[in-house]
Amino acid sequence: MKLLQKSHKLDNVCYDIRGKIHQEALRMEEEGQRILKLNIGNTAPFGFEAPEEVVRDVIRNIPNSQGYCESNGIFSARKAIAQYYQQKGLKNVDADDIFIGNGASELITMTMNALLNNGDEVLVPAPDYPLWTAAINLAGGKAVHYMCDEQANWYPDLEDMKKKLSSRTVGIVLINPNNPTGAVYPTPILQEIVEFARQNDLVIFADEIYDKILYDDVAHRSICTLADDVTIVTFNGLSKVYRACGFRMGWILITGPEKRNKGFLDGIKIMMAMRLCANVPLQHAIQTALGGYQSINELIIPGGRLYQQRAAMYERLNSIDGISVVKPHGALYMFPKIDKKFNIKDDQKFAMDLLRQEKMLIVQGTGFNWPEPNHFRMVFLPSIDIINDACDRLEHFLKTYRQ
Ligand code: PLP
Repeated sequence: MKLLQKSHKLDNVCYDIRGKIHQEALRMEEEGQRILKLNIGNTAPFGFEAPEEVVRDVIRNIPNSQGYCESNGIFSARKAIAQYYQQKGLKNVDADDIFIGNGASELITMTMNALLNNGDEVLVPAPDYPLWTAAINLAGGKAVHYMCDEQANWYPDLEDMKKKLSSRTVGIVLINPNNPTGAVYPTPILQEIVEFARQNDLVIFADEIYDKILYDDVAHRSICTLADDVTIVTFNGLSKVYRACGFRMGWILITGPEKRNKGFLDGIKIMMAMRLCANVPLQHAIQTALGGYQSINELIIPGGRLYQQRAAMYERLNSIDGISVVKPHGALYMFPKIDKKFNIKDDQKFAMDLLRQEKMLIVQGTGFNWPEPNHFRMVFLPSIDIINDACDRLEHFLKTYRQ
């Protein structure tokens, strides 16, 4: 009997946020153990709910959403998205520049498949949201990582980005606000990246799924508003800002010179058509979410739940001997550094040992394509009590842990 193997296409595809350690946590839960899960930016289990009005409009539209729709999505949702970018200052944007998908995840994979040929390189941040590296590699491309600088608020190291350019480079991924570091990039950095893309004919893939989850009065600038002569694919969706991860609703906006983009758009349209369309009832959430009351703002201002939880985790993590973390100004995560004295050589083992000993689940830094085993990611979605409990467990664990 010939044993079945996973395809070689998956040889360089890895998604550790739901990887081996996550599997072990599920196994432990099945045994009846209670695990503190700080591994995933899933809002609903932590009591963050989608706006009621959004849920109501989805339910109201179910009866008339029984057929497939056009592959790019229903018009009212695409129009609402176009208007969302018009309000950000983008002039020439229309519903036809928008493509709706089942979450940004699906669109990341589709976009990479639509554009990349074998061996094409894409510059990806380290650390990254690992779907990017996985999707590029799955599409036959090669993710080449540029470093983000922890000493400089985790901003992209532009010199390193430039050094990584080759004759095969076709694009740059930018995650802003960033997962896992929480960095929000200032406009001058974005302008330099636009200039770099312009000079080298690169496509910018801008993952802006946390664009409204901002703290401390930092402003977010959508990079597509900075240039109309560079091809920019902007990714966004309802999962985070509207606390609707399970709705699986995302979109891309493609801007830049029409003539240049034509072949790429043909590829996108083929990918869209192959899966017929995105979930239709949930597309009705988009217009209501984007045009309605922006309840996310209550959560991110001083006194708001996300703001307070971020403050609590930041303070408590930095108080642990051997742990230091840069304050995130956006998104839902921290990416703390583990001091050399713990001698961590394998951070997957670190995460597994922490899970088994303290029953808490984090994701190791190398899972985000960070090159050294000296970081990990925690989400600050849980209540302050749980955050404190998690940090107590981490502190207790580190008192004796050495590799
Ligand atoms: N991009 C980033 C940076 C993310 O953090 C996530 C989810 O955590 C996604 C994309 C995927 O989002 P979606 O739920 O729309 O598939």
